[in-house]
Amino acid sequence: EPVREEAARPGVIGRLFGRSEAEPRRELDDEMLEELEEMLIQADMGVETALRVTANIAEGRLGRKISSSELKELLASEVTRIMTPVAKPLPIYPKKPQVVLVVGVNGSGKTTTIGKLASQFRAAGKNVVIAAGDTFRAAAVEQLQVWGKRAGVPVLTAPEGSDPASLAFDAMTRAEADGADLLMIDTAGRLQNRQDLMEELAKIVRVIRKKDPSAPHNTLLVLDATTGQNALSQVETFQKLADVSGLVMTKLDGTARGGVLVALADRFGLPIHAIGVGEQIDDLDAFDARDFARALVG
Ligand code: GDP
Repeated sequence: EPVREEAARPGVIGRLFGRSEAEPRRELDDEMLEELEEMLIQADMGVETALRVTANIAEGRLGRKISSSELKELLASEVTRIMTPVAKPLPIYPKKPQVVLVVGVNGSGKTTTIGKLASQFRAAGKNVVIAAGDTFRAAAVEQLQVWGKRAGVPVLTAPEGSDPASLAFDAMTRAEADGADLLMIDTAGRLQNRQDLMEELAKIVRVIRKKDPSAPHNTLLVLDATTGQNALSQVETFQKLADVSGLVMTKLDGTARGGVLVALADRFGLPIHAIGVGEQIDDLDAFDARDFARALVG
């Protein structure tokens, strides 16, 4: 079954060549470039990025015969070139506690990602504290407590509906008292009232800075890769709401081919600190530009 499925859905490049010949070649002409462009757009790369990648591939090669493996290699290098500068793990600072603010729309995978990160940092011997800053969603707080248990990390909470900034302040106090290496602060993700959310995030930042003017050290935006081009507008929105310093892309285990990551890297150049590849605690990987490019090209 899976083999047939694979044959029925060849990668981006496979579809340009047909399947009969072992190593088919095709003239790299306008028609082929247009097809390639269309496929990259379908893979969620976005029009602008697809056009530029296609133009780079065409450069100096128009009218030549090209094989499917040559084209795969070219496309993979183009994608690798765009993605290499953004493939960076979360930077670790000597400052204790390092404060990581985690933002993103509800459902993007914030809670899950915080749990996975906490577990990884614990495994690396770091002392981690989590603050459940989405105080308006009782379910979010409970979920975070579940993840805290799994990761073996304390989760600080506040009564439902209370001020997230005051929780953030208490969390800073606790993290300092504990000598914690890392404090991760979850935040609300309701975009329905942006003004409200902006003020809430700004207040959290103000309060944290009273304790440590250099904090927050990272502001992680969690994005759901399956939302396709929507992820681009989410970055724009959150850049207005907060000082986004890096991304975590979730749900890359699903059907999404992840082309939107190329569009994001090309447009914003924000580091991709990690990728979510499942719902379990270990399903968070470092982002590797070359592996990603190979998987995307198929
Ligand atoms: P939040 O509302 O942003 O805190 O989102 P959650 O962390 O609660 O995640 C929303 C849903 O997405 C949950 O069902 C998670 O299990 C799921 N999820 C999160 N990350 C991933 C991932 O990398 N892969 C998959 N398949 N599911 C994920």
